[in-house]
Amino acid sequence: MTPQRLAVAKVLADSEEHLSADKIYERVKVDFPFTSLATIYKTVTLLKQMGEVMELGFVDDSNRYDGIRPFPHPHLICLKCKRIIDPDIPVLNELSTELAQKTGYRIINHRLDFFGICPKCQNQKKRQIKS
Ligand SMILES: [Zn+2]
Ligand SMILES: [Zn+2]
Repeated sequence: MTPQRLAVAKVLADSEEHLSADKIYERVKVDFPFTSLATIYKTVTLLKQMGEVMELGFVDDSNRYDGIRPFPHPHLICLKCKRIIDPDIPVLNELSTELAQKTGYRIINHRLDFFGICPKCQNQKKRQIKS
């Protein structure tokens, strides 16, 4: 791994935020000013193949990456600020085990996204209505 690649891996492993490639680029650029966005994409693809990163694809092309939990898990997505968090609710994680048991499928992957408005954005809305 080149130092640049390591930097990308580190940014992803240190961030709970599910960064976009643009955001990763911004952070890596601090230490590697000559990095290009293309390098970031290439590195992220490589890390994905290595199983170090999970990619969350979205139709509007704003894919996000999770380097902390590089395996399928549920996500909670704010439609306003686009924040993505990992809800830590055991019953959701047990879903695929139960599904496998009930259906006999060997579950390889799953995608479970919940969309809503995060508490922060809800508060902003309330404040706007009041003023
Ligand atoms: Zn929000
Ligand atoms: Zn996640």
